[in-house]
This record gives sequence, structure tokens and C-alpha cells, in this order.
Amino acid sequence: MKDYLVKGFAYDGTVRIYAARTTNLVTEAQERHNTYPTATQALGRTLTAAVIQGSFYDEDQTITVRIDGGGPLGRILVDADANGHVRGYVANPGVNMIYDKGPKKGQSAVGPAVGTNGYIHVTKDLQIRDMFTGSAQLNTGEIAEDFAYYFISSEQIPSAVGLGVIVDEYGKVQSAGGFILQVMPGCKPESLDRIEEIIKNMTPVNLMIEEGATPEEIIDVLADSKWDRLLDLDLSFQCNCSREKFERGLLTLSKEELTELLEDETTEANCQFCGEQYKFSREDIQKLLEEKDA
Ligand code: ZN
Repeated sequence: MKDYLVKGFAYDGTVRIYAARTTNLVTEAQERHNTYPTATQALGRTLTAAVIQGSFYDEDQTITVRIDGGGPLGRILVDADANGHVRGYVANPGVNMIYDKGPKKGQSAVGPAVGTNGYIHVTKDLQIRDMFTGSAQLNTGEIAEDFAYYFISSEQIPSAVGLGVIVDEYGKVQSAGGFILQVMPGCKPESLDRIEEIIKNMTPVNLMIEEGATPEEIIDVLADSKWDRLLDLDLSFQCNCSREKFERGLLTLSKEELTELLEDETTEANCQFCGEQYKFSREDIQKLLEEKDA
């Protein structure tokens, strides 16, 4: 089954609901970065929220989400565009932490691994002169709550966010997905009460997706079965790095720095976002040096 997102309007058009299945793209991120389960969950939830948020904007607009909570995972950085493409990484992919007590005993300790001593930053490149960055203090480090708090505090949009990634005992992604629900002005108090009641009683979104629920079925639950479909979007992990981009990067080095690289048989450059490795031979570097001279 492919990854996709559905956007619907509900409650007389006063509530926007986005739901997505992201199992394939989170699997690709897990495999590319070789993340351990807790890192997979934190990165997978962030990729899911970011690819949904990306769909809020227009054609050529992009967002970058940065979550830096001071925990063992380090920084999570994710880019998404408006066409369903997302890429990202977590600074320390080898983190696995399990709650050993309390109600979440046995589950991945995403909050403590992300940390709460920091912020979520969302930078929007709307292709209109300046970039905008909105930030919010991290509340739980569990990602979904942090996005919800970001939407209300930085964008003044009351929102509910549900994100889930299920990883099996071998570290393989079983299912991933989520939803973002946003309340717009004019929403009736009784609709708000109903939404609150539904969210309080619904099956957690990760379990719904594990049980095979589609984005449409998630919206059905949240919308109380009455909604209008506005948008369908295929989703994928996609990085825009290339050998040419890395060459251009190498050309920004000084001649001395490039000459130093000649000492090695090959120079390896890794794309942080997707893990792709680009190799440059001594001859390649020599050519770049000549290009610099020209
Ligand atoms: Zn890349």
C-alpha cells in the first residue's frame, strides 16, 4: 500500500482534518539512517507531522522543522515541501530507551530521548523574500503534543495532533501515520465538545494504523463520519542532494583545503539528510582545483 495523505473539512467547514499513512517513508528513513527503535519513532513522528504540515502550503513552498530538546537523540531536522516529499535525520540514530516503570512501562521513551530542554522551530520558505521561523518550547518531547503546542502558541491555531510509529522487535517499521486537526474561527462550542470527546475516547492513531486503518478511516472517526474530501496527496521520502551539489560545495573550499584532500585516495561526502554517499577520486579533486584556477 502506498503512503498518502487526505485532507477533509468537517463540522460545517469549520475544522480541517489531515490524516496520513507514512509507513513506507518512515521505513525508508529507518533503513537509510539505520536508526534504533526510539530514534526511529522520534524521527518517524517528526517526518509524519512535517509532511502533513508541508501540505498546508503552496506548490513551491517548503518548511524545515528543527527539534532540539537536549536529550540523547540530539537534534532532529526535517524538510518537507507542499507536494508530499520529506527528508530528515536525527543526530544520534543509535538511541534506544524504554520506560521501565509507570503507565508507559515497556514502551519506547521518546520524550526523555528527545528531551524537553529546548524548542521546536518551524522555518517556512514561502518564496516571498523573507523566511519565517516560529518556535515553541518543547512540552513533552513526544513530538505530537509539541506540534500541537507549536500550532496554538506560534500560529494561534487550536490543533490536535496524533502521530504514531510502530517498530517490531527487530527494529523494522511496522506502521506509521498520523493526523493534524485544526479548528478555524466560527467553530461552534458543541462541535469543539464533540471533538474533545472523540479524541479522548479514540484508539491511539498508531494502533489504528497498525490495525490497517486508512487515512480516510481516521478522518471518519475524527469528523464523526461527516466530511468533505478536499485533497489527496502521495507521500514519499525524497532528498534533493546530488553529486553536482556536493561538487559545488567542494568548490567553495579554499585551494589549500582542496589540495589537502589530494592526500587521500578518495574523498567521501555523506548527505546528512538521506545518508547517500558521494565519492570523489584524487583525479576528481584535481579537476575541481583546475576549475577553481580557471
Ligand atoms: Zn541526500
